[in-house]
Amino acid sequence: MSAADSTEADWVSRFADEVISEAERRAPGKPIVCASGLSPSGPIHLGNLREVMTPHLVADEIRRRGHACVHLLSWDDYDRFRRVPAGVDPSWAEHIGKPLSSVPAPPGSPYGSWAEHFKAPMEAALAELGVEYRGISQTEQYTSGAYREQILLAMRERERIDAVLARYRSQQREGYFPYKPYCELCERDLTTVTAYDDDSTELAYTCECGFGETVRLAEHDRGKLVWKVDWPMRWAYEGVVFEPSGVDHHSPGSAWIVGGQIVGEVFGGEQPIGPMYAFVGITGMAKMSSSKGDVPTPADALEIMEAPVLRWLYARRKPSQSFKIAFDQEIQRLYDEWDALGRKVAGGEAQPAELAAHGRAVRTAAGPLPVTPRPVAYRTLASIADVTTGDAAQILRILGDVDAIGSLEEARPRLDRAQRWIDTQVPAEQRTRVREAPDAELLDSLGEAEREALAMLVDGLDAHWSLDGLTTLVYGVPKRQAGLDPDAKPTPEVKAAQRAFFALLYRLLVGRDTGPRLPTLLMAVGADRVRKLVGA
Ligand SMILES: [Zn+2]
Repeated sequence: MSAADSTEADWVSRFADEVISEAERRAPGKPIVCASGLSPSGPIHLGNLREVMTPHLVADEIRRRGHACVHLLSWDDYDRFRRVPAGVDPSWAEHIGKPLSSVPAPPGSPYGSWAEHFKAPMEAALAELGVEYRGISQTEQYTSGAYREQILLAMRERERIDAVLARYRSQQREGYFPYKPYCELCERDLTTVTAYDDDSTELAYTCECGFGETVRLAEHDRGKLVWKVDWPMRWAYEGVVFEPSGVDHHSPGSAWIVGGQIVGEVFGGEQPIGPMYAFVGITGMAKMSSSKGDVPTPADALEIMEAPVLRWLYARRKPSQSFKIAFDQEIQRLYDEWDALGRKVAGGEAQPAELAAHGRAVRTAAGPLPVTPRPVAYRTLASIADVTTGDAAQILRILGDVDAIGSLEEARPRLDRAQRWIDTQVPAEQRTRVREAPDAELLDSLGEAEREALAMLVDGLDAHWSLDGLTTLVYGVPKRQAGLDPDAKPTPEVKAAQRAFFALLYRLLVGRDTGPRLPTLLMAVGADRVRKLVGA
């Protein structure tokens, strides 16, 4: 048994232990059920990915141990359409109150409904992330009558349900019904149930549109249980043993707390093991990158980072820990950390929890996720993409110099992610533009020591033409000028001289005081062009 299989290794393993033992108590011999729910009411925010990743990781661990396990993903597409998001034709307001699956998709969409339009990119992202799940459309469940017995039961038990809800509110109310019909005429849920008869199941409702009718609930498939009853009904119906939820569901009187009482008192089921997960924030996403307004989605994240890296962010943090996903310069540091972990794992030096998180990031029970065969550092790829403005032939030349890479395919998909990051997240004023012609004025103004430093650089280029070699060269030139050995520890004076030398090189090469790391920049610019720009 490797450390990655250890039951002690990380939070995922500990939940898997708990869920397996609880499932054996509740439903021995049956597949273990983990669940998530998402509302396709608009673009699904990257932060909401935790709703899926938390049960995914636990379900995946359960499968790795050889147990049958299903991860149900409920699409709450039978929820009402609440508001028209910015950027969509205001005339969509006429659909407010209809099920999301009955609202037309935004203009220009290839999908048949609002819900399908917003589900599709999430489904694609989950496939890329290796998340195996069984999707359930709540529209299909409700309109097929799958929940008929549960709805009739909830209506019979409406006073008991109301009594549970009353524990959290001060006022009494009359005529509580846990079921809300969608209007037969206008399809909206602006309805009020006015009467219900348990024996005949006849239900009368009126709608704000003026329509009203009496239906037999035993045959009626156009309405749904209210959320606080719907959720515990599904726990019992599906036999859910693990379902996490966000902080907002856990205050007194909230759906999780109330549901925990209703599931047992009304539906004869049990509440799942349900950790509360903390907020996931986003840093520095540029507005221009999202075609869907300002909402960062999992698809946006997967454009700039590989699936294993995004999985790793979720695997390495307990659900109770909040974290941020970086779209800004931080992504380069994140990738450095990821690569360092990869080296530790390969070298057999990773701690058990690190090893577990890495293992969950790079593979699932179904097999390994796609990786980049030759993973050049993300920051190097980003600099190359920046300096070359994406020119494939130039990129290939540089990658050949940097790491003897013979085809762009070897550097993909990481290369494409870094390219996309540069294109969409790095503002134009921070992009690097290599000078076309030497800065004659600056070159003419240089003193003797600066000319000497540039000459030493040019002399050493060919012999040092690698990232490590050029690093030694550019740091070593000011040392040699100060009479020090290249390996000597720099004095404060030499450090100042190094800074001044680097700033001079940036100004000569890219016309600014800073830029990508110099060794990367020099390799990207190419030796001939460097010689030309520094006046050699
Ligand atoms: Zn109506």
